[in-house]
Amino acid sequence: MSDIACQLSFVRSTLPAEVTLVAVSKTHPAEMIREAYDAGHRIFGESRPQELREKYEALPKDIEWHMIGHLQTNKIKYIAPFVALIHSVDSARLAEAIQREAAKCGRTIEILLEIHVAEEDTKTGWNIGELKNYVGTAPFARMPNICVRGVMGIATNTDDGAVIRRDFDELRRCFELLQPYFGPRFNTLSMGMSHDYPLAVECGSTMVRVGSLIFGRRGLKKPVL
Ligand SMILES: *Cc1c(COP(=O)(O)O)cnc(C)c1O
Repeated sequence: MSDIACQLSFVRSTLPAEVTLVAVSKTHPAEMIREAYDAGHRIFGESRPQELREKYEALPKDIEWHMIGHLQTNKIKYIAPFVALIHSVDSARLAEAIQREAAKCGRTIEILLEIHVAEEDTKTGWNIGELKNYVGTAPFARMPNICVRGVMGIATNTDDGAVIRRDFDELRRCFELLQPYFGPRFNTLSMGMSHDYPLAVECGSTMVRVGSLIFGRRGLKKPVL
């Protein structure tokens, strides 16, 4: 087994069957994704639209591509025709722009609402009060090409398990608070990365985004495609 296949099966073995594993392949070359693909994995996460597009073109078409990084409205067009889930919808403006691009492609794009819970103010996302007000005006009823599947968040970057747990508990509360506004398809709570995903799962995560534990440390080199 290759290292990637081995790490993948290790991570999978630590997850309950109902938790979805997004293998975060950002910055890594297509050959590495291919190894994970050959080991049977089909769900990959990327954080840059152009890189995502290039990898989509280079790799098998049954891959489910997730956009997990900050997305600028002028870059949606690169991924709109094929993206399976956008985790990082952090503003009304972005949601509306995704609606327009999805309509142009004649498809419905599934999204998650990114909520800011971490202590660092460098992290993006909605403040829950603002988001609840916004959702209360039923804006998604006017966006027929968007399906809101749930919530995404990133915990504070710390070794303090109590702080991380507090952030995950908060994300779960936000998820539950928003659930009544959406239908039964609002069922995804995306939280947990390489260093904190076991805690995220304990706190109710349904989707974890694991990169370095599967693919190794990300270098500074640009991906070779
Ligand atoms: C890079 C990234 C991950 C994966 O991080 P690892 O620590 O490598 O597992 C998960 N979520 C988001 C939003 C990311 O940008």
